[in-house]
Amino acid sequence: MVGIAKQTIRDVEVRGRRVLVRVDFNVPMKDGAITDDTRIRAAVPTIDALRHAGARVVLISHLGRPDGKVVESLRLAPIAEHLAGLLGVPVIAVPETVGHVAKAAIDHLHDGDICVLENVRFQAGEEANDPAFVAELAALGDLFVNDAFGTAHRAHASTEGIGHHLPAVAGLLMEREVGIMGAALADPVRPFVAVVGGKKVSDKIGVLRNLVGRADHILIGGAMANTFLAAQGHAMGASYVEQSAVATAVEILALAAQAGTHFELPTDLVVAPRLEADAPSAVVDVDGIPADQMALDIGPETVVRYGVLLRRAGTIIWNGPMGVFEVPTFASGTTGVAHAVADCPGTTVVGGGDSVAALEATGLADRITHVSTGGGASLEFLEGKVLPGVAVLRDRGSAPR
Ligand code: ADP
Ligand code: MG
Repeated sequence: MVGIAKQTIRDVEVRGRRVLVRVDFNVPMKDGAITDDTRIRAAVPTIDALRHAGARVVLISHLGRPDGKVVESLRLAPIAEHLAGLLGVPVIAVPETVGHVAKAAIDHLHDGDICVLENVRFQAGEEANDPAFVAELAALGDLFVNDAFGTAHRAHASTEGIGHHLPAVAGLLMEREVGIMGAALADPVRPFVAVVGGKKVSDKIGVLRNLVGRADHILIGGAMANTFLAAQGHAMGASYVEQSAVATAVEILALAAQAGTHFELPTDLVVAPRLEADAPSAVVDVDGIPADQMALDIGPETVVRYGVLLRRAGTIIWNGPMGVFEVPTFASGTTGVAHAVADCPGTTVVGGGDSVAALEATGLADRITHVSTGGGASLEFLEGKVLPGVAVLRDRGSAPR
């Protein structure tokens, strides 16, 4: 494990203490059932470590966007039940977040017991990081553990505010996310290859700026590639081009040239007259896009070019799909890149909501060093921003409490 500059649960004594653990149980649900429990599973190592060490574990999470009100369908009881199944021990679902019911439930915990407080976003003070709510929450525990990487880019009461009241350390998932991505950015084994795709240049400007000069190669795909190709003067037909970002694309190309970062764009593309699985698709050279057709994926020659660089990489960071992977006709570029990343013997990191979904669909996720649980958070991390939920944690080397 790569060391991080923050203290973790290994640095604190937890036996007999009430440990408030912010986890990210914001899982997709349909008709009351959890459709993907990845985020719950990702929190298990920290929860297990704490209960085995004799902590009284109090889990805090949000689910969905209840906007400060109780929304029945967003209660955490089904998640507590699912977690109990994963851990093989009981998990108490507390029907309130703060207040005397929550306090009583926590007072009754024995060492090693686990409870889950009600959805923290039922409280208006959560997203507002309201000092009174922060104080109420902090009064429930002796120690704060942040394991919610996916929410660490938000300065909310349970992700940031609380860390000013209690000794605050990182959980094991947080340590892994920050450690692996931090090392990849700060001290990558070379060649360091970044793959950036997805829809808009404007969503990823910060990431591109931060990677230019750090990465040896930046490989571009997705609709974003269309904007870069347009910036180079190619006629993009009916493709999605983010007109307002063409000037930025020109600027990033110039920065990359200056910094000596090899900036790779597709040389062939998969085009179709409409975005439908049964649309007649064709592979064309970047200079041969018919006026009435749109580029919806990178072409096979580009997949091979990118694949050679990726299989030789010492470090890969991938954010953003190479095409409209949701439609099988336009998924080959993303699948091809996923195979190359999986084949790479170096450190490989995949982040971003749609990128991770695309990767999971290929069944190759277990051949990736680290698949980030944070979409927005991983993006901000790759932009080089300090995440508030990480900044508030105790620095390594500061006095133990
Ligand atoms: P992530 O969530 O991994 O950060 P983004 O949200 O930036 O990724 O982009 C994903 C979206 O981009 C997908 O919905 C995909 O269909 C779309 N996309 C990718 N390539 C194209 C393209 N050539 N034309 C239109 N949309 C595209
Ligand atoms: Mg997305």
